[in-house]
Amino acid sequence: MRTWEENIRKVVPYTPGEQPNQPDMIKLNTNENPYPPAPGVERALKEMSADTLRLYPDPTAGILVEAIAEAYHVEKDQVFVGVGSDDVLAMCFLTFFNGKKPILFPDITYSFYDVWAELFRIPYERPALDENFRIRKEDYFRENGGVVFPNPNAPTGVEMPLEDIEEILNHNQDAIVIVDEAYVDFGVQSALPLIDKYDNLLVVQTFSKSRSLAGMRIGYVFGNPVLIKYLNDVKYSFNSYTMNTAAIAAGVAAVRDKEYFEKTCSKIIETREWTKAELKKLGFSFGDSKSNFIFAAHETCPAEELFRALREQHIYVRYFPKGRTHNHLRITIGTREEMEKFLSFLKEYLKNR
Ligand code: PMP
Repeated sequence: MRTWEENIRKVVPYTPGEQPNQPDMIKLNTNENPYPPAPGVERALKEMSADTLRLYPDPTAGILVEAIAEAYHVEKDQVFVGVGSDDVLAMCFLTFFNGKKPILFPDITYSFYDVWAELFRIPYERPALDENFRIRKEDYFRENGGVVFPNPNAPTGVEMPLEDIEEILNHNQDAIVIVDEAYVDFGVQSALPLIDKYDNLLVVQTFSKSRSLAGMRIGYVFGNPVLIKYLNDVKYSFNSYTMNTAAIAAGVAAVRDKEYFEKTCSKIIETREWTKAELKKLGFSFGDSKSNFIFAAHETCPAEELFRALREQHIYVRYFPKGRTHNHLRITIGTREEMEKFLSFLKEYLKNR
C-alpha cells in the first residue's frame, strides 16, 4: 500500500434512492411531492436575469432567512439555512457533536445519520425501536453526546408526541437535541414552539417535501441565537456561499404562499389516508404513518418480490433489504391517480400470484 493511502478519509457513503427517468413511470421511491411548487416559484425563476449570476449570492441568504422567520413567527437570528436539510444536518453534526460520549439515534431511522457520524468520527449508539417500530423515549434518558431523531421517524412514518419530545429534552439538558422534521407538515405537531424554552433544541425542516422543491436544495433549522451563531461560524469556515441565487429566490416565493402549501399538504394527507384503507384491504399492515409515505409489509408476499414486480411496471418504491426492514416497502404518496394505478397493479398481482 502507498503511504498516502493511509491518509485517505475512507467512508461508506449514503445511498440515495434511484432517480430513474422513464416517461411512463410512477415514482414513489424518494418521498418527493407529486405536485409542482407554488406558482410564485416559477414566476420568480422566470424573472431572474442571468446577468445576476455574475455576482456572488448574499452569503447570509438574508431574504430567505427573513421570509422563513416571518412565516414561522420567529426572529431572524433563530434561523439558519442550507443546501437541503442534509447540508443543515451535516453542519449540525459537525458543529455540535464533538464530545467523547456517543450520540444517540434509533437503529431504524434516516440512514444518513450514521454516515455523518462515521465521516466526522463521532461515536454513536443506536437504541432499537420497539417491536412496533416505535422510538422508546426511555432509551434517550441516559448520558450521551447528543441526540438526533426524525419526527415523524423515517422510514416508519410514526409520530412521537410532543410530550415525549419534551421528556427527552428534560433528560438531556447537557446535550444538543436535534429533531429532524423533514416530514412534519404531513400531520405532526412541530417542536418549534419549544425552542424558546430549551436552549439545547434544534428543529430541522426542509423545502424538499411539503414545498415541492427537492431539486432546489433548501433546508433550514430553528434554534436559539447562540446555537445559530455557532452554526454560522462553522458554515463560514467551510463555504460562505451555500445558497445559490436561484434557490434563494425560489425559496422566498415558496414560503410566502401559505395557502398553496396548506392545500397541497392536505391533498397528500387525504390521499395517504385513502391509500392506507386500500392497502389494508389488500393484506398490508403498517404503523400509523403521519408522513408522505407508508412503510408497509404484506401478510404473505415478501417485500423483495413486490419491489421487483412493481419495478418491472416502472412503479418505483423504496426497499431497504438489510435487517429488520427487509420485509417492508416504503411507498411515497403520489397523486390520487398514481396511487390508484399502483393499487390496481398490486391487486391484480396479488390475486394471480
Ligand atoms: N431527513 C430525513 C428524515 C429525510 O428522509 C430526508 C430526505 N432524504 C432528509 C432529512 C434530507 O432531505 P433534504 O436534504 O432534501 O432536505
